[in-house]
Amino acid sequence: MKDKIKESYRQLIVDTGIEMLDKGITVGTWGNISARDPETDLVYISPSGMDYLSIKAKHVVVMDLNLNVIDGETEPSIEKHMHIAVFNTRKDVNAVVHTHPVYSSAFGTVEQPLPGISEDFIQIVGAEVQVARPYALPGTAELGETAVAGLGDNNAVLLPGHGALLVGTDMKMALKVSLVLEKNAQIYLYAKMLGGDIRAFKQNEIDFMQDFARNSYGKKNKGA
Ligand code: 13P
Ligand code: ZN
Repeated sequence: MKDKIKESYRQLIVDTGIEMLDKGITVGTWGNISARDPETDLVYISPSGMDYLSIKAKHVVVMDLNLNVIDGETEPSIEKHMHIAVFNTRKDVNAVVHTHPVYSSAFGTVEQPLPGISEDFIQIVGAEVQVARPYALPGTAELGETAVAGLGDNNAVLLPGHGALLVGTDMKMALKVSLVLEKNAQIYLYAKMLGGDIRAFKQNEIDFMQDFARNSYGKKNKGA
């Protein structure tokens, strides 16, 4: 199994950690990242409690989908249950990002789902993001179960009193989902302050935008 390990995936985890910190969607050593190589089903996950700026490729832990460590000298993220539960449930997902963001976390704190009020959110995150219930402690298998249930077919779920979990077909998308989720939460809160009615998208508009994002958007310019 060790001969199937790809260094590029380890580097992807290192680079994503720095980007996550740069974008301000997590603080300190919190949050974590994983990627699944669809060719081998090996999972590359960030080490636990390490400063993102000091994580090197050699610190990234390689695991299988049964939570066995295949390679790595460090302790994997305590949220390994949650990451691997997603990969075992969502075959379309190859990257998982867990963040501790400010605005989206406000919704998790009051256990209120976050409706999609902007087009980018509808297109890549879902029509409405749910809160994983009931509350489960960090690092537990229960958190993995509630997160997967709350995620459903969406690409994000809010973890009450904790943060958010974002997924994507690849790391670029998972990171984009995390930023769009946070942007949508911020807009929602500002719109509430303005006091007007927040316009809800109609089902036919949601279907149109999700179909557009899946089948057309950016396809013609791919590789340009
Ligand atoms: P790790 O540092 O073990 O990844 O844990 C951080 C975290 O956010 C736990 O929920
Ligand atoms: Zn966390």
